[in-house]
Amino acid sequence: MRIGQGFDAHRLTPGRPLVLGGVEIPFDRGLEGHSDGDVLLHAVASALLGALGEGDLGRHFPSSDAALRGVASTEILVRVAARLRAAAFGVANVDATIVAQAPRLGAHLAAMEGAIASLLGVAAERVNVKVTSSDGLGAIGRGEGIAAQAVVLLESAEGGDAGGG
Ligand code: MG
Repeated sequence: MRIGQGFDAHRLTPGRPLVLGGVEIPFDRGLEGHSDGDVLLHAVASALLGALGEGDLGRHFPSSDAALRGVASTEILVRVAARLRAAAFGVANVDATIVAQAPRLGAHLAAMEGAIASLLGVAAERVNVKVTSSDGLGAIGRGEGIAAQAVVLLESAEGGDAGGG
């Protein structure tokens, strides 16, 4: 088995859609970034790369690569999932936490879990997404941005149940 953790934070800015966990959320601002700024998918992808011992997102998807400009975060996660399968690992589970002062995200968590599970090709019950506010503290508490962290457990596909659900 392998464990990995990931973290990401992006700034909120007007005039962009807010996309978290592959789900578009109604809000007056969205996250800055090359693509959709989806901090949750970035944290999950980073955790998966970490569990594989394959560095970080910047190494695999460098912002200097013009071919990757505007690449969707969903596509990034799909590509990382393919690396996982190539290395003969399956996803045992994913647990993630979004840190956001606003908007309220509770009603969207199940959709995010479903989207992430679908992108990874695992059963939805293997993916858990939580949300917390930072209780008004710091930059995120002032609503300047949104952060996410994720932990993943991988299991060798050669050991039987590969996480296909
Ligand atoms: Mg990011």
